[in-house]
Amino acid sequence: MSGWLRVCAHKNSLGERRSGNRAGITCRAVSHRIQGRDFPRNWMIETAHLIAVGDEVLWGETVNTNAAWMANFLMSFGVRPTLHCVVPDAESAIGQAVHQATEAADLTVVMGGLGPTADDRTLDAIATLLNRDITIDPRVFDHIGSRQSHAAGWQNSIRRQARTIAGATIWMNPRGQAPGQLIAVNGRYLVLLPGPPHELQGIAETDMSPWLGQHTRGPIHRETLSVFDLGESAVASHLWPLFEGEHPRAGIYAQPGRVDIRIETPDSPAGRILQERSRAWVKSRIPAPVFELGRESREAYLVRWLSSRGKRVALMESLTGGMICSHLVAVPGASQAVAGGVVAYTDVHKARFGVPSEVLSESGAVSEACALAMARAARDLFSTDIGISSTGFAGPDGGTEENPVGTFYVAAVDVDGEVVRRRYTPLDRQSVRRIAAHTAISAAWELLELPTLLSI
Ligand code: ATP
Repeated sequence: MSGWLRVCAHKNSLGERRSGNRAGITCRAVSHRIQGRDFPRNWMIETAHLIAVGDEVLWGETVNTNAAWMANFLMSFGVRPTLHCVVPDAESAIGQAVHQATEAADLTVVMGGLGPTADDRTLDAIATLLNRDITIDPRVFDHIGSRQSHAAGWQNSIRRQARTIAGATIWMNPRGQAPGQLIAVNGRYLVLLPGPPHELQGIAETDMSPWLGQHTRGPIHRETLSVFDLGESAVASHLWPLFEGEHPRAGIYAQPGRVDIRIETPDSPAGRILQERSRAWVKSRIPAPVFELGRESREAYLVRWLSSRGKRVALMESLTGGMICSHLVAVPGASQAVAGGVVAYTDVHKARFGVPSEVLSESGAVSEACALAMARAARDLFSTDIGISSTGFAGPDGGTEENPVGTFYVAAVDVDGEVVRRRYTPLDRQSVRRIAAHTAISAAWELLELPTLLSI
């Protein structure tokens, strides 16, 4: 049920022994009593399932913005949504989804289907599922009566919207009619909210928010570390203990040429200490630069860095076909830092743009010597401070015994030095090209000795 509590008594993922408050992680000892039922001490809501009800959402006529909003709202309390689903306006479907959700998650939030019309079936489904009565809450009845025009049949319409599940805690609707309802179900919680977004948000912010504040561990701090020079499995193999435990909670997200490691800790002084330790631990384990990018990209940082020093870069790309240049010029203000680039795909054109023909004949176009010669030639061609290049076999055909398909070389050169890298990534063509573009930026990073902490 509670990862945090388990961990309080055990070693954390980094192998540090923790024990309750001594480790600085606060385990609030609270005994909840709700609807006559005691919840265990220390029990805190950690996971949630979100269920949207409505044919119009299911059929795509209404975009399920409630799910996104509620997920963000819950995450700000440290509650992790583990499932979103949409069900039709049908009692059996609603009942089945709620049954499964309350078995699986600490909190189930049902959004929609509480209105006055016959197709609003949420309340009936819950009453049947939980075998509870539906009652008319006089407070809700008065509240709705005071907001609604008293047209013919008004009392019936109000009576329908004033229906509540017996024993539920009622959260009045500050922006509409149907109230929110909080129900304890087998040691877990079920919350019902109306579908109109402004009503749902009004109840969430007014009554659900303080309730969550008492029953959750508080906000989570999330940090992402990025690695560009290792693949996902290599990163995972260096960090496996981090992903075994829940303290901190960590995940790995990969795309061609970049692996992100996301670390989550409580947003508290103790959590921040754990965050720092985790970051240092990751850096100590990964045999490559580990970046703290924040909202920054390496390309944006590089463009700014070059502009602020009056320096410029030029490119000669073969394998990446202009991709590196494109990444750089995507940054606003790139004209201050990027002089230009050429795509020199054939040997003839590499030579025409300045690669010595003996390099091509002796080492071949896919070689360390050629990558360096291309970067130098780019620098000369555009009279820049820095030259960057790429050359390789993206496949699926081509390659040699020495340099099979998936092998590439990138280089970065300036007046003070040269960096060249060879990598072999036996992946599909586009992935090889994307990885090469990232690796070329890494080569420039190493050449210019740029920092890995970009977020301030
Ligand atoms: P009402 O009192 O309006 O009937 P209700 O609780 O029955 O409220 P629904 O009938 O499910 O709520 O939805 C009413 C309106 O709220 C829908 O027409 C739609 O515009 C909006 N809505 C419902 N569900 C969602 C959702 N998941 N995301 C965004 N908007 C939604």
